[in-house]
Formats: sequence, structure tokens, C-alpha cells
Amino acid sequence: MSIDTSDESLDSTLREDRIFPPPEEFSRAAYVKSLAEYEALYQRSVEDPEGFWGDVAADLHWFSRWNNVLEGEVPWVKWFAGGKLNLCYNCVDRHVHEGRGDKVAILWEGEPGDVRKLTFSDLHLEVQRFANALKSLGIRKGDCVAIYMGMTPELAVAVLACARIGAVHSVIFGGFASNAIVDRVNDAHAVAVITQDTAWRRGGEVKLKAAVDEALPHCPTVRNVVVCRRTGSPVTMQGGRDHWWHDLVKDVPAQCPAEHQDSEDPLYILYTSGTTGKPKGLVHTTGGYAVQTYLTSKLIFDLRPDDVFWCTADIGWVTGHSYVLYGALQNGVTTVMYEGAPTYPQPDRFWKMIDDHKVTIFYTAPTAIRAFMKQGDEHPMRHKLDSLRLLGTVGEPINPEAWMWYRKVIGRDRCPIVDTWWQTETGAIMLSPLPGAIPTKPGSATRPFPGIVPEVVTKEGKPVPAGQGGLLVIRKPWPSMARTIFNDPERYVKTYWSDIPGSYFTGDGARMDADGYYWLMGRVDDVINVSGHRLGTMEIESALVAHPKVAEAAVVGRPHDLKGQAISAFVTLEEGHEPSSELKEELRAWVAKEIGALARPDDMRFTDSLPKTRSGKIMRRLLRELATHGEFKGDTTTLEDFTVLAKLREQDE
Ligand code: ATP
Ligand code: MG
Repeated sequence: MSIDTSDESLDSTLREDRIFPPPEEFSRAAYVKSLAEYEALYQRSVEDPEGFWGDVAADLHWFSRWNNVLEGEVPWVKWFAGGKLNLCYNCVDRHVHEGRGDKVAILWEGEPGDVRKLTFSDLHLEVQRFANALKSLGIRKGDCVAIYMGMTPELAVAVLACARIGAVHSVIFGGFASNAIVDRVNDAHAVAVITQDTAWRRGGEVKLKAAVDEALPHCPTVRNVVVCRRTGSPVTMQGGRDHWWHDLVKDVPAQCPAEHQDSEDPLYILYTSGTTGKPKGLVHTTGGYAVQTYLTSKLIFDLRPDDVFWCTADIGWVTGHSYVLYGALQNGVTTVMYEGAPTYPQPDRFWKMIDDHKVTIFYTAPTAIRAFMKQGDEHPMRHKLDSLRLLGTVGEPINPEAWMWYRKVIGRDRCPIVDTWWQTETGAIMLSPLPGAIPTKPGSATRPFPGIVPEVVTKEGKPVPAGQGGLLVIRKPWPSMARTIFNDPERYVKTYWSDIPGSYFTGDGARMDADGYYWLMGRVDDVINVSGHRLGTMEIESALVAHPKVAEAAVVGRPHDLKGQAISAFVTLEEGHEPSSELKEELRAWVAKEIGALARPDDMRFTDSLPKTRSGKIMRRLLRELATHGEFKGDTTTLEDFTVLAKLREQDE
């Protein structure tokens, strides 16, 4: 590996030397028990990827076996070509046939506090009925079905029923407005929409069916709408087009055999969060996706038959697809779904739910963790949380400060943390500790999952030495990779496979340390170039968040005559602290002391909240536009709260 001294690498400023070995007791019982075992497994997986993934695939049920594990050249590869399977069958039927029918598959809690538990047998029954209901509407294998629902058990049933009959699901996050439905339904040519009357959210109702009604005049491909009754609020039903879920399932047969899907048949289309621009409709196929979501769930969450696994992601995001549903259910554990807002009616709702349902594994996002920190330790501390044995995070780089809080206040210094890096495009987790094997460092996603070959490179694709930041790429194909952008293979090739020929370009900046640990540094699009030094956003933000008065921070670059770029910081304060010019100076000095004068923010704005996507990620591109032009220009359709932009603009004047 040659040492590259060009200025294309990222300067790394984060000094983090805390390290937490896996608790001994955890390691003893884990699937992978030591660093040496992980390394041996990894070694085998990259020396003989086909043997490795083939063995994993053999754990699943196939109607007929594949011919080759891997065929073709990137980006157009096929995994398990010729194999026939059904992912719904693997999530549901298999457990019923193997005597686990009475086990709770889905443990659901509504926002008002109502609880429903569906065993694998219940799920089997409901999925088959609903699959037949879809068929009764003429929906066939290969048709795309849009699902626009709240977090109800029926959402899971709808997704699985599509998989069962080979219909391609496209879940649209229930928090989006009708224009997002129009875009996604039309892009995917959906023939039907599954929705519900309304959903509970923060004590109010989200009018899902009404949003569908508003969208559909603009969606010529949709012929049928299925409406599930959740809250009982009145909705208008359009004759010939709209059908009640409960009516459709009344008269259909109870049995619906699972379609024999080809390994490369599409399973779903899902749009990215839109953090960096207009969302892309990624296509995931069946066999490889099944295999990698199964194995990552098993080894990263170390799933045991009696685990109660709670991934708080909405099913509208890839995390909900791969871990709330497909990964957890293939492993036959109980998966928790919650309908409402995390802090409703009280800030301790999550912690109460963990105690009530004896949740053993909790998987959430840094944005949520930072919000919980801001609310104060007293809320989690009121609860025992002693059922927890493992914590996880996903969605953004986690600031070391937030990681430490998560470990101490939620994990009570007892639970390992898995910081899992991946993307809608990757389908499954790519970088993460295996909790019984890999010592963790706060803020690092640690090592690659078996079978995954990442590297940190320059723009030319040359490896950068350990310790230096650069672009994160994946060198070898992996089973759950997205196969294309729906209807736009050229954009797929251009976005992911053209920057670094032969490799998949993630769009993220990262650094690998001397121990082979990966540290995500933020989006490459967001890199700030100060006097020839290229800085990732993550490290400056983490320095700010480490200050006791700061809850959350976002930094962006804006043009500067002398330095190339100046650093603009947007800061949210902890409860009980007021913005002041003294505090601004204090924070600027703090960053200079923590990282160096180079990273000292040139300007700083205090704000009550930052612009985020609906999936909770900070949208720095909007802040960059504000800092540069004083206005917002780009795509804002996936923004969480439009009033944030108005407030930021006011503060700017
Ligand atoms: P778009 O591609 O439309 O801009 P998006 O990238 O936010 O949207 P997702 O696929 O939901 O959409 O998010 C993947 C991104 O989230 C990754 O590229 C990375 O930037 C970030 N991410 C996810 N998990 C982690 C993690 N554990 N550490 C650091 N970053 C993470
Ligand atoms: Mg992305």
C-alpha cells in the first residue's frame, strides 16, 4: 500500500482512545466469542466468499437450490442464481412448521397503550388471508404495491403478504405528505395502495387515507386502495377503487401457498432518506437480501430464541425493512413495533416499554439518543432497564459523547453497543462490532462484517494509509446490495459505480485506524476545506457535543476569500442554557482547544432545532445553503419540520 500525501484525504482530528472489551459473560454465550474467532471467520469469508455465503444460505428454506452463489461482474451481479425461495415463507411458515408457531412474532404497542401480540401462527393466518385478498384484486407477481401506513401490525402483514405472492412492495413512510406519495407511486408504477384510516401520533391523528385521496388523482397506475381500520375515524371511500381490509379478508380462502420466487426476483423498491438530494428508488431482490439480513441480525444482535428485539425504526426506512421485519423474523425472535412518538405521553415512554415488555435488545438512532440526553437522565433512571443485554445504533455517525451516555444511562455500563454502518443501498449492515468478539471504541463502527471488503481511498481510488481520512468504498460485491435504481440503471451506475471504477462508492468519508477500525466522518458532499485542510463534519460536531452545554451541533462550510471555506456552526443547547455571545466565544475556544485552531468555527448560530430528514438525519446541505446564500434551494420533500427552516431564516436576519 503506497502512502498518499495528496490533499484528497481527509484530515482527522478526533482523538478517542477509550476502548471497551466485550463483557466476559456476553462473550461466553455469544455466537462469535473472541477477536480471534471473528478474524478467522472474516478471513474465510473473503478468501472463499461463495463457500461462506453458500453455507449461510443453507440455513434458510429454499424450494430449489441455487446453481452458483455469485455470478457476473459488478454492478450487474446475481446472487444464488437459479435458487427458488420465498422470504415470507422463511419469516413465517418455517417457524410454524418447526414448532415455533405459539411464539410471539410481533409484539405491538399502540400509542394509546393498547397492546397486540401476534404469534407466528397468527401471523401465518393473517398473512395468507391478506395475500389472498390482494390476489382477489387482481394483484399478481411482479406488480408493485405501495404501502402507506402507520406502524401497525397490519403494516407488517401487508409487507409479508406482498412478499408471499411475489408483488414488489414499496413502503412510503407514513409521515410524508401526499406529494411524496405521488412521486413514489408514479416512479414505481404502483397498481395499488394499502393504507389505513388514520394513525395516532403525539395524541393527534395522522390522516393517512385523506393523503392518499389527495394523491391518487395524480397517480394513473393505481387501480385499487385497501384501507385498514385503525382509529375508526371517518374516511371517504371511493366506490370501485377503495376496499376495507376487513371486508376483503372475510371471504377469501385461509390458505395461500407462497410463490416460488427466483433469487433475483425483486422484493421491494425503497427510496433513500433524501439527506443529500432527491431520493433514489433502490431495488432489492430476494435471495441475497434474505441471506445477509438473516446473518447480520443473527451475529450482530446475537439473537437467541428468547430475545425480545426492539428496533425503533419506522418500516418506512430500510432499517425497518431489514431489521424490524425480515432479519428479526427470519431468526424467529419476537420483534417489537411501536406506533407513536417516542416521548408521548411522557418523555420516558421508551424506557417504560422496555421494562413492560422485557426488551432484551434495543436498536435506535443517534438523533434519538441526543434528544433523550437533552431531556435529562431522570427519565430513563426511573426505570430498571435490567432486561436489556445489547444496544445498537444506526443512521448517522454517533458522537462519542452520545455513545458514552447511551452506554452509561441506558446500558448501565453493562450492555455492549453495536454501532452499525450501512445504507438503503447496502440492504444490510456492513460495518459493526460483533458484540461478543470486537472491543468497541465510542464513535467507531469498528470492523467489517464477514464477507464485506471496505477500503478508504482517494478520489483516484488509491488506498490512504491508516489514520488518514478518505472516501469509503466497498471493493467486493455483497449479497444484499441493491441491484439498481428502479427504471434508471444509468443513474445507478453513475451514482455508485463510476467514481471509483470497479468499486461501490458509498458517498461517505471515513478513516481506518491502526487497529483496522472504521470511523465514519460524514458525507463526502459535506466535507469542509479550510486552508487546504479537508475536514469531515463529524469530528467538529462531536467536539461541540462534548461540551456540557451543547445538545446537538451541525457544521457546514461557506465560501471564504482567504481560507477557501469558513466553518459555520449551528448549535442546539441543553435544557437550562441560554444563547449568549459569551457562550459563543466559549464554544469557539472549546473547539480550538479540543481539535485545534483550524477547526474553530468562524460563525455560530444557536437554534432550537436543526433541519432533519424524516428519518432523523441532519440535512447539512440546507444549512450550507443558508450559510452561503441566506436561503434554501434544494429538494426539501423529506424534511421533517418545515418550520425549522423558517425559524433559521428569521434568526439569520
Ligand atoms: P440520500 O442517499 O437520499 O441522501 P441517506 O443517505 O440519508 O439519503 P439512508 O440510506 O437512509 O439515506 O442513509 C445511509 C447513510 O446514513 C449512510 O450513507 C451514512 O451517511 C449514514 N449512516 C448510517 N449509519 C451510520 C453509522 N452507524 N455511522 C455513520 N453514518 C451512518
Ligand atoms: Mg445515501
